[in-house]
Parts: sequence; C-alpha cells; structure tokens
Amino acid sequence: MSLKDILDVSTDNSLSGQKWHMLRQSIVKRLLSYGNATIAELGSELQSSVPTVTKAVNELLLEGYVVDMGKITNSGGRRPSLYSINPTCAYFLGIEVGRSNMSIGLQNIKNEFVSIELGTSFVLENTQESLLELCSLINSFIEDSSVNKKMIVGACINLSGRINSMEGFSYNFFFSENQPLSEIISEQLGIPVRLENDTRAMAFGEYREGIVDEEQDVIYVNYGWGVAIGIITNGQLYYGKSGYSGEFGHSNIFDNGLLCQCGKIGCLETEISGWALVNQFKEAIAAGRHSQVVLDEDSNDLQHHAIIMGALNLEDSLCVDLISKQSEKMGRYLSMILNIFNPELLVVGGDFSLLGGYVLLPIQSALKKYSLGLVNRDVKLKKSNLGHRAGVIGACCVVKERMLSTLINN
Ligand SMILES: [Zn+2]
Repeated sequence: MSLKDILDVSTDNSLSGQKWHMLRQSIVKRLLSYGNATIAELGSELQSSVPTVTKAVNELLLEGYVVDMGKITNSGGRRPSLYSINPTCAYFLGIEVGRSNMSIGLQNIKNEFVSIELGTSFVLENTQESLLELCSLINSFIEDSSVNKKMIVGACINLSGRINSMEGFSYNFFFSENQPLSEIISEQLGIPVRLENDTRAMAFGEYREGIVDEEQDVIYVNYGWGVAIGIITNGQLYYGKSGYSGEFGHSNIFDNGLLCQCGKIGCLETEISGWALVNQFKEAIAAGRHSQVVLDEDSNDLQHHAIIMGALNLEDSLCVDLISKQSEKMGRYLSMILNIFNPELLVVGGDFSLLGGYVLLPIQSALKKYSLGLVNRDVKLKKSNLGHRAGVIGACCVVKERMLSTLINN
C-alpha cells in the first residue's frame, strides 16, 4: 500500500479498469484535499451512485487507504459513517539544519508527529564529511522510527542562505556544480528530497500549523542568528525568480563600515541580528558595563542564546537594554516591509521571539512611528507560537504540500 500507487496512472488498461481506478483516485483526492466525508457526500460530489461509491470505499478500507471514523451525529434517522484518509498511508520527513545542531521530525498525513528529535548535535561545515554525517543522522532517525522508509513520500531539508528549491541547489552550503544537492541527499536517503530556505519553511509552518489564522497575506520575520523574511501572498509562498526572495537581513541599511557575514558592508544584520547582539554585548562589557551573563567562548552553541536567556530568565539589564534597542531598530526597518507589502499579519519568529514583549513592544511602537498610518492600521503583529519546532513543522508542511499537489494535480 502506497499513496503514490493510487494517485499514479492505472496499470489496468481496460476502459472499466481505468474508470474504476479514477473513481478510487477521486475519493482519495477528495478526502486528502477537503477532509472527511460520508458516502452520500462523496456520491454527490463525485457524481457517482451510492452503491458504486460504497463498493469503492469498502475496497479502500480493506487496502488501508481509508478509515471509518464512526457514525456521525445528526438529528434523526439512520446515522451515516464518516470516512477519512488513513493517517498512516503516507509520511513526510522534515529536517531543520542549524549551525550547531539539527532537528528532525516525521509526520503522518494528518500532520501528526510520529517521531521528533530537536537539537541533535551536528556542526554544519561546508565539507563532504559534514554532508555525509547529516545523511547518516537522518538515516539513523528513520531506522529508529517505527515507519517503513517506503511509506515516506518525501523529505524537506531546511538550510540557511540562498536555496534554489526548484532546481535543488544550495549556494551557501554543500554546493556542487555537477549535481543538485537535493539529488545527492536523495541518493543517500533513498527518498525524494526537496531543499528549502529555512525562513521560508518556518513561514509556511506558521501559515499551515501555527499562529496564522485566516490571513492570506503574511510576512514572517526570522529574527535569530541572522535575519530574513518569508513572504506569503494569497496563501502561497513567494519565491522570486530563483528562490532568493526574503533576504531582508542583507539589505544595505547602515553607513557603519561594519563587515557582514555575506561579505558586504553595512547590511541590516550588522546591527540587528543574533551575531550583532554578541558583538554589541562584548563591546559593552569592554566599555565597562556590567552583566550577570558570561559568554562561553568555547561553546559550540550560538552565544546570542546566552544573552537572550539572560534577558528572559535573569532580566539582566544590559541584555534587556541591547535587545530593546535592536528591536526598536528592527521595527523601524520592518515598517519599510509593511509599506511595500501591506500585509494582514506580521509574525515575529526565530530565537528573539522567545522574549515576547521585550521584542514585540519596541517593534510595535516603531512600526506605528515609521510606517504609513493606513498600512499600519491593516496589520496585526503576533509572535510565532511554534517555538523551536517551527523549522521541522515548516519542512513537513512544505514537502507535504509539494508532493501532494504534484500527485493530486497529475
Ligand atoms: Zn549581509
């Protein structure tokens, strides 16, 4: 039993065989796209008789594509059964690769995690060894889960930086001219792989499973070690021509002469980001300011976490002060994004969002001050509610959307 089999073309070439396959396929697509249904609803929507749909549903029940959810409650008469796609008929793997750790999760078709591991130690280096270790960690995770690899329809791997998702190339990590990275990893894992920019996947995760309600025009800000935005317009991720949209952190903003990690001077990240926060903290200490937080220079973990935790848990005045100043600046430059996109919702995610009001209030106040009144009136500001799981959830949502839309629309 594999979802791909039923959504693929029929192997039976007879006319009746083809028609029967199409009906079964239509039932599965209907349940996948619009949720549970009764036999009567399926018959009416698919313009097929009740006995024919009943026979097809019974077959799908026996084969494990569909499950009986029990009788529905209605006002009277005979209560019909409600049918659903079987949550275990397909699985999706989501992987978030950070600089010093990785997170990985396996979801069934109903977006329920059957296995998840957050923050596994992994140092991202631009080497063949690092790539092979990543693949080996993913393969071990799959082996340790109770799911047969054949049932995993696809995997999505989030990486930071420039990712061309359509062609499967990553330009910041593991770049190879000869073969797309998605293909290289797919060969190692034995399942189809899609690459996605980390911020874009997180934005999509918020849209599908997180704080986004009914809004269709959403800007998601990943405020962490680096800074980027994910753009959702009309309910769709916006990629740009080659998939490099959203590099807000590398906009030339400051005339400060500071070198950015991208090699340019004066990017937004040089003053507003996790790595800028670490530099600002060290400069303040060198200038004689006091803090309860001591940065561990030997730690593999990113040092901005220590400063964020210092503000959150200790209310350390230097940490709070630096973060408030950054967030006020962040609000100021996000006002440009509001003026350009006029979104319904602005979601703040990434490590800084853990701080709630310390970050959101200065952003809100600066947005009010610097964006156009009419534009500002349209937008709600919210904090991500997916926390550290945002990347993995986003990756699962992206791969599910892509794989199913390919199968359903073929
Ligand atoms: Zn830059």
